[in-house]
Amino acid sequence: MLGPLRLTVLGCSNALPHPDTPAAGFLVQWEETALLLDVGQGVANRLRRVADPQQLAGVVIGHMHADHFLDLAGLRYLFPWAGGGAPPLPVHLPPGGRRRLDDLAAAISERPSFFDDSYAMDEYEPDETLTVGPLTVRFAAARHYVPAWAMSVVAPDGARLVYLGDTGPSDGMIDFARGADLLLVEASLRDAAEDDDERGHLTAAEAIDLARSADVRAARLVHYPPDRRAELEGLCAAAGPWICPAVQGMSLTVSPRVGIVRAVGPAA
Ligand SMILES: [Zn+2]
Ligand SMILES: [Zn+2]
Repeated sequence: MLGPLRLTVLGCSNALPHPDTPAAGFLVQWEETALLLDVGQGVANRLRRVADPQQLAGVVIGHMHADHFLDLAGLRYLFPWAGGGAPPLPVHLPPGGRRRLDDLAAAISERPSFFDDSYAMDEYEPDETLTVGPLTVRFAAARHYVPAWAMSVVAPDGARLVYLGDTGPSDGMIDFARGADLLLVEASLRDAAEDDDERGHLTAAEAIDLARSADVRAARLVHYPPDRRAELEGLCAAAGPWICPAVQGMSLTVSPRVGIVRAVGPAA
């Protein structure tokens, strides 16, 4: 039996720094292939506990907000300073992301080749399928304040993980997530009234509704203020055992048409 698909939560806070968890970062593994989805502030630190950053098959960034990509800078320092030696880390950026990283290198007083020396960077075409070893990644536009892309990762056995990134309520996201074996859905807001008029985030109740409408087999709330975890656990418990808040450090094994078949780590 090959696989299975495994997900490890490296970070599940929103942009709020918190001692319990970094910002967004999710490690997807299939046998020797390890793919990192988003790398918000603090994620590189936690990554080192579970994987060798130099052995990653790639990093995919959903959108260019700090809590989803800023630790690309931190991660860079784990590679040989002058480049060479370690193979470059494939970093798949959303359209326009490349220029943002050039700007970031300048903003942190690094040389222009700072990222290029260690990363093999490209900008993915959201309409096209991205292949990372045996994994395939598809994208769909989320509802956010800036261009943002949800990701669907499919393993060779058909197991499908969908990570929506940052999004407001969206029929398109329901369609994209439909039938997922595991859905990661954000729950940033206490109240929808906190959001801009043009929605860009979800309340926990909206996140649970979205997951239920998408008829997913399992879901985990992510991108939530860690201090609200107990409250979110209560809301999820009322919805059923298929959904609960993600916790930093938890590792989930995903099986096609079944959902989560094994959970280890905190709150598992
Ligand atoms: Zn965002
Ligand atoms: Zn965010």
